[in-house]
Amino acid sequence: MRPLPSAFQSYGWAMSTAEAARIAGVGPHEVLRFDGNTPPEPPTYASEGTIAAALAEIQRYPHGGFPALLDAIAEYAHVETDRIVLGAGADDLLLLCGRAFAGPGDVVRVLDEPTYPVFRLAAWLAGAEVGDDGAVLTYCCRPHNPTGALRPLPEHRPLVVDEAYFEFAAETAAGTPGVIAVRTFSKAFGLAAARVGYAVADPDVAQELVVRQDPLPLTTLSAALALAALRAGLPDVSPTIAERERLASRLRELGLEPLASHTNFVYVPMQAASETYQRLLRRGLVVRPFDDAIRITVHTPQANDRLLNTLEQPDG
Ligand code: PMP
Repeated sequence: MRPLPSAFQSYGWAMSTAEAARIAGVGPHEVLRFDGNTPPEPPTYASEGTIAAALAEIQRYPHGGFPALLDAIAEYAHVETDRIVLGAGADDLLLLCGRAFAGPGDVVRVLDEPTYPVFRLAAWLAGAEVGDDGAVLTYCCRPHNPTGALRPLPEHRPLVVDEAYFEFAAETAAGTPGVIAVRTFSKAFGLAAARVGYAVADPDVAQELVVRQDPLPLTTLSAALALAALRAGLPDVSPTIAERERLASRLRELGLEPLASHTNFVYVPMQAASETYQRLLRRGLVVRPFDDAIRITVHTPQANDRLLNTLEQPDG
């Protein structure tokens, strides 16, 4: 095999709920996850009825792809259909961009690090290095994971803008020349396990990406769920945003300083972040630890209160 760069790190998945339950000494259903940046409940359209027609033809390939889904996404994104590329989650499209633009000997720029680790992975798996000088492609995350910040659109081109949290920020670079906006059904639409994402690019770039991608990266089941999501209307993110602000203000009452967020999570700088992570984990509350912060996904008000109460308690 072609060797990986010496700096290579594979994607580090969070621990399973079963493992968190074992550590906390509780049942898996008692574990509350604040680490995935996904909604606490499945959407109403995630039902058997939604996938029934796809199941009834599961023995066949979906010849011709998913034109209805492409059209629905184009309408949602306010662009023409020839700008849309479908993928198995945003990750699939981030990796596709890497291998489409970069190869061995090339440099790929990753802005605002630490950020979403798949940008580096995309560069490394293409055989490229991560750096600055002469970069053939730039990745940025907007709004930014993990801080939740919404920074100005960088000038670098070609530019991949990861807009996984677009719905919470209501600002987009989709349609900007030289930009590939990558979005997902995993966050505001609540379909993370279905693995559906899309890119919005200049039409010529979109077509170049399509010819370089895996044949049929989506399943018919996933496509049916994504189409149902779009037909259900715009996702209502306002309750999540209101709860995020309540959570942030309660955190401030505890003396913490969560950063302003344009997403469905809050980034909370703190010393001894790792100890706090472990302490919460022992109570069955899983947050995302960083060197000097924890990231908390907005959960239900009840779950958030449990987290806040545990943070408030003295160590032990
Ligand atoms: N981009 C960012 C910034 C993310 O936080 C995530 C979620 N882990 C993804 C992409 C992955 O999205 P998907 O589930 O569509 O692959």
